[in-house]
Amino acid sequence: MTNVGVVGSGVMGAGVAQNLAQHGHPVVLVDSDPDALTRARETIDRNCRMSRFLGGPDLDAEEVLGRITTSEDLTALADTEVVIENITENWDLKKDLYPRLDAAVRDDAVFVANTSAIPITRLASLTRRPQRFVGVHFMNPVPMKPAVEIIPGEHTSDEALATVRTLLDSIGKKAIPVNDACGFVSNRVLMLTVNEAAFLVHEGVADAATVDEVFRSCFGHPMGPLETADLIGVDTILHSVEVLHDHFADSKYRPCPLLKRMTDAGHHGRKTGRGFYTYDGAAPAPTTP
Ligand code: NAD
Repeated sequence: MTNVGVVGSGVMGAGVAQNLAQHGHPVVLVDSDPDALTRARETIDRNCRMSRFLGGPDLDAEEVLGRITTSEDLTALADTEVVIENITENWDLKKDLYPRLDAAVRDDAVFVANTSAIPITRLASLTRRPQRFVGVHFMNPVPMKPAVEIIPGEHTSDEALATVRTLLDSIGKKAIPVNDACGFVSNRVLMLTVNEAAFLVHEGVADAATVDEVFRSCFGHPMGPLETADLIGVDTILHSVEVLHDHFADSKYRPCPLLKRMTDAGHHGRKTGRGFYTYDGAAPAPTTP
């Protein structure tokens, strides 16, 4: 078992922590917001209890939560061997975090960045350990998804890559290697699709439910792009599209104003109860963004 640190306990951090703990790894889960840590424990408890009904394994919520300790302080990560960073997709926040993380964690620990779009070499440059720095783009919801993208940075050593591959194997994840480029493979395509779907609603071409219905009924996709936006987080979609736009300086990534308005209004999707749909425990209902 590997002693793993998970930083950021939002949508992804909670999922990563659960997935590791359900496979027996001890986890230290850190977030700067104590309420986020409380919500993460509640989410993990609920997801473990629901797991069997959603086609997952039978999980003992108390046992899984018993392997997760929570803290607001990075020094709690001092003894961890691998640290998986999942904080908000914002360059300034990550730029502030990594040097502090570098100082708080032992020198031989490997860092894993779970980012939607920021190049791994750029994040690794914020630390003194670019050779022990690996990108892993987990998919959401983490415990239910069988594969990840694994991305070595310019300086990543074979040893660090092997450590991370072994950890991913132990939690049943197939690691698909891709080269380091903004948005990797998945989000170079997905973010553009979701952004364009938001433009369709913004321009009044169709409402969100109709856009999603076209993708489900015509293409056989299990979810439409705007349901996917609500699952990922509308704010995370906006931040990722902004990263692509800044990086490539290409107008094809210009963020849809509707995503900006929804983010400002707190309509971030499932995690806040309202996005392109509302979530009140019953079936999701379309909203008028
Ligand atoms: P989120 O908004 O749900 O959670 C982010 C968490 O980070 C919050 O709890 C926040 O309090 C915490 N945080 C912010 N700054 C911090 C700091 N300095 N120290 C400690 N905690 C801090 O975001 P998310 O959806 O979980 O995304 C996290 C990362 O994973 C992002 O980089 C995102 O691009 C990436 N990602 C997201 C998805 C997805 O589907 N949501 C999928 C793959 C990757």
